[in-house]
Amino acid sequence: MACPVIRHTLCKSVLIRSGLGDYSLNCYTGCAHACVYCYARFMQRFHPHPEPWGEFVDAKVNAPEALARQLRRARPGSVFVSSACDGWQPLEADLELTRECCRLLLTHGFQVNVLTKSALVLRDLDLFAGRTARVGVTLTTLDEGLRRLWEPGASPVADRLRALREAKRAGLPTAIMFGPLLPFLSDDAESLDALFSRAAELDVDAIWWDGLNPRPRVWESVAALLRREYPELLRRCGNVLYDEGMRAAYLSALRERVLAAAERAGVRERMG
Ligand code: SF4
Repeated sequence: MACPVIRHTLCKSVLIRSGLGDYSLNCYTGCAHACVYCYARFMQRFHPHPEPWGEFVDAKVNAPEALARQLRRARPGSVFVSSACDGWQPLEADLELTRECCRLLLTHGFQVNVLTKSALVLRDLDLFAGRTARVGVTLTTLDEGLRRLWEPGASPVADRLRALREAKRAGLPTAIMFGPLLPFLSDDAESLDALFSRAAELDVDAIWWDGLNPRPRVWESVAALLRREYPELLRRCGNVLYDEGMRAAYLSALRERVLAAAERAGVRERMG
């Protein structure tokens, strides 16, 4: 994986109204996790970069100052961290922008809802413990080989599971997002049973799932990986995304498999 090009930028605001809660917060534009299916690629329409998605990160280095200004007026609510990047991607280890923003949010009575693919979130359990925070982790597969292909810059599966375990141990509510489930790779009954059993074992409080969606610029990168690694799946995946009838049938069957797996694992009532 190429090292991302890092730029330091200044922002006017960092807390935005969001459908994923009351607000969302992103201290970075771009994400070095470089997930092949990343929906945040649409950001490049508004922030064009010469580098492809996954190979640049703009750090909003004044994010804590901008947030502190916004917090003078913003009404407390829930904040989704992060919606268009991973707030705990590798650069965060040095810059601590997400950490400082979460600290400010918690101090001002906001609820912080983390969703990450990085074990770096473990660093911040001290900040979250005993506060209004929930730690959520995204998993698309338990297969480390698949993870390396589809989410090359993100933490290994085992480290993400450890983050959930430690968060629970710290007394925090936890959540898992299974998504996007990879069509014909991690969406069969056996893979789903493995995912949901893990959620049960870790006693996570909330579980969500999602199929792969046809978001702008996603197919280009998914198709390139499929062409290289799974040429036999290229047409089937294309149909799942773009053929209306096939997509509806696929999603309906997937939903049934997901609910059945959740039922077998005894976590059906935790599904969001
Ligand atoms: S971690 Fe999230 S934001 Fe980052 S590349 Fe992956 S899907 Fe995109």
